[in-house]
Amino acid sequence: MTDGYNISDDQIALLEKLPDPVLLIKRNGQIRFANQSASRLFGCSGQDMLARSVDKILSVKSRKNIKQILDDFCEKSDEDFVEKIDLTALKPDDSEFPVNVSIVYLSSSKDLVLLNIRDISTQTRVENELVRKNHLLNFAEEIVSIGHWQWDLITNDVIWSDNLFKIFGRDDKGVLNYDTYFSYVHPDDVAFVSERVQSIIADKKFYHFYHKILREDGEVKLIHLKGKVFKNEEGEVIEMIGTCQDVTEREKNEKLIRRVSILEAKSKEMEQFAYIASHDLRHPLLTIINYIKAFDEDFGNKVPKEAMNYLNAISNSANRMNKLIKGLLGYARLSSKKERVKVDCNKLVKAVLRDIDSTIKRTGAKVQVGELPVLKGYEIELQQLFQNLLVNALKFKKPDVKPEIEISAKTLAPDSYSFAVKDNGIGIAKKYDEKIFVIFKRLHDESKFEGTGIGLANCKKIVEIHHGTIWVESKLGEGSVFHFTINPE
Ligand code: ADP
Repeated sequence: MTDGYNISDDQIALLEKLPDPVLLIKRNGQIRFANQSASRLFGCSGQDMLARSVDKILSVKSRKNIKQILDDFCEKSDEDFVEKIDLTALKPDDSEFPVNVSIVYLSSSKDLVLLNIRDISTQTRVENELVRKNHLLNFAEEIVSIGHWQWDLITNDVIWSDNLFKIFGRDDKGVLNYDTYFSYVHPDDVAFVSERVQSIIADKKFYHFYHKILREDGEVKLIHLKGKVFKNEEGEVIEMIGTCQDVTEREKNEKLIRRVSILEAKSKEMEQFAYIASHDLRHPLLTIINYIKAFDEDFGNKVPKEAMNYLNAISNSANRMNKLIKGLLGYARLSSKKERVKVDCNKLVKAVLRDIDSTIKRTGAKVQVGELPVLKGYEIELQQLFQNLLVNALKFKKPDVKPEIEISAKTLAPDSYSFAVKDNGIGIAKKYDEKIFVIFKRLHDESKFEGTGIGLANCKKIVEIHHGTIWVESKLGEGSVFHFTINPE
């Protein structure tokens, strides 16, 4: 089978024993020898293999390539040259698998070449898996704004992950070393970082740390470095690996949260103050009101009329003050401490409409209620919210125009709803959009529209304890729509 090619029987015997599949083929692709490993790999006896061309054991695409490869090899190569090439081979069931083929001359004849074929299915699978895992790692790093790094202290070579280049805003992916990293350290932190790196090396222990970097585009970022040191047999640090997280946004958010919690604490303090003040003020005020009453009953007919007018003015003011203090007390008492319960807003609004039925009838109002949700909330407070908005919609009506009110709701997300209470009343000028929700803020004289200016402040607080927001859309003289949202706990 290898006659005329100067190949000895010993060489053939040796090839036969090789663990790797080996073929001897002619330049035209005809197989002249296949060892046992090759027969096993291609599921065909050595004799059967001889009848074939190398084409038969390669995929269609690789068949095209092998012709050219063999020609080029035979044309150009000297006797010691080894060509290595990746091809796709065929199993007896025609399934494809990747192989790495080394081509060499075995004899001096340039018409016969040896193909050493290695099945690289496992290697390819592992490589593909590695590439896939690397993609996943890059993706995960991008999501959490983390990069990873490696620093060889012997060679001073540094390796960065793709996302670390992004965090540092560096496009040049060429050779990196420690100085490259250090050139990004913000001038404010240079001394700190250099001292920290020295202590890590001296103590052979990685202390995580934060510092600012100054990117080439001028952006300043705060990064958090965590790592691990590797030592040689003498106990010297020879390598460090670790992560670097961009915590700029997190730091900003934490600052904001700290500010919000200070504000919350301050507002709690104010609420407590309002509660104590209003609670304590009511007692002397009630005493004044009672004495005015007693004075009127006992001496009302004995003092001049003018004195009685003064007394009536004092009485009116004291009663109004009592109303305001009662309102303030109610406002201060509103809180989200209790547990939420299931509230059917359809039933709740019906109950409110029953309570204000006489006003509806007196004003000749038309009230339309759409389909409302069943949600988890604070029932009494929600009732108060709808009542305040409806009472206002009836109260701030245009003279001689019958109030027309619409209540509707939309689902924004699971357990999140938005409501709207629309009226055709006097409307509100744009500049008062936000002011009307401030406690005691009123836009009209008491003689025109009576009230305390507490209703909408209460509404705002009720919406806020339901994690929602309230706002108004209105134009002076063109009615108003009060919107509010209710969100889950
Ligand atoms: P009050 O109703 O006791 O005056 P509120 O806090 O309920 O207090 O309302 C604050 C102010 O907002 C009202 O005095 C009024 O000027 C304005 N306002 C509230 N609701 C409406 C409405 N539906 N249409 C026009 N103006 C309104």
